[in-house]
Amino acid sequence: MNTLNIYLSNLNHNYECIRKQLRNSTQCIGVVKANAYGGQSIEIAKRLIQIGIDKLAVAYAEEGIQLRNHGIKTPIMVFYPQKDSLADLITFDLEPCIYSRNMFLALEQQLNLLQVKNYPIHIKYNTGLNRVGFPSSDVNWVLDKIKQPYFKLESVYSHLAASEEERPSNGCLQQIEQFEKIKKEHTQATKSPPKFHLLNSSGIFNYPEYQYDAVRCGIALHGYANQPKWDRLLKPIAELKSKISQIHQVQKGAAVGYNNGWVVPKTSRIATLPLGHADGIGRHFGHHRASVLIQGKKAPLVGNICMDMLMIDISGIDCEEGDEVSFFGPSNSAEIFAAQGSTISYELLTGLGPRIKRIFHQ
Ligand SMILES: *Cc1c(COP(=O)(O)O)cnc(C)c1O
Repeated sequence: MNTLNIYLSNLNHNYECIRKQLRNSTQCIGVVKANAYGGQSIEIAKRLIQIGIDKLAVAYAEEGIQLRNHGIKTPIMVFYPQKDSLADLITFDLEPCIYSRNMFLALEQQLNLLQVKNYPIHIKYNTGLNRVGFPSSDVNWVLDKIKQPYFKLESVYSHLAASEEERPSNGCLQQIEQFEKIKKEHTQATKSPPKFHLLNSSGIFNYPEYQYDAVRCGIALHGYANQPKWDRLLKPIAELKSKISQIHQVQKGAAVGYNNGWVVPKTSRIATLPLGHADGIGRHFGHHRASVLIQGKKAPLVGNICMDMLMIDISGIDCEEGDEVSFFGPSNSAEIFAAQGSTISYELLTGLGPRIKRIFHQ
């Protein structure tokens, strides 16, 4: 019915392309949060390990536990640990990224309770995104805290708010400057400094000189990097396909879909596809905003997208029920399809629902 083909050989290509931007000594952290950007974390994580990724990262502890339950032993960072998951996080040997005093104290209490020493942690500083992270004024507090035997400070990092923005970007420069200062303070305070990292996918292409000791790479592994010039170097790994369920001849003046979504201006051929907003193709894609490819020709999504189905206008396209339709893939970018629905590749990919069958191609 609906399939998301995942071409793992393209993942290899993307990884190699990313490695080319990096020094040999720079580590690559593979971000596999949100079901590996909608693909399927287990298979994608396993391939990343096979091709030499240094570490994995997820957003929440539960995602890390899922990887551990499938036998993955690679170090896993948890970007956004929550207090109620700290005990599980330790049980499953996941590495928390600590972003606030409260979280630090909660972890300290938990490690003390379990009598665990030298537990690997990461410290996240807020340098301008204002989402999570210690303010840079907390460096001394952090330096004092990590002296305790409970912790082993693995890395110190921050996150750029607009790493894809055309250079020079004042916001990025200010964040880099702040991070440099934090790095200096951490380095001066210890004989064995932690690793430092700042860049996500687009940052790797835009600011390779600030790769420090590691980069955190998510979307670029999937073939997108937020600028056409970098997208061209990469290969999309996911391809969303569907098949026509039914074809109607709709007379001029009749309406297609709920609430007379589209009144056809001339007699048209309409095809119905078996996926809708419950599968991640939201209502923003309807009303001729987005189109899919059928026999290499564009067919617009018409009227209101339903929960389980949507309709396309195939007037003038030679096709029949059961024929394949492509939403996006290696030859039609998910970034472009996403933009047609007023969103970005990240939201489109991570929003693809569980009813879409994932098929892996080696
Ligand atoms: C999701 C995330 C990344 C990966 O970002 P991409 O743009 O997908 O490469 C990196 N760092 C942090 C902190 C993240 O939350």
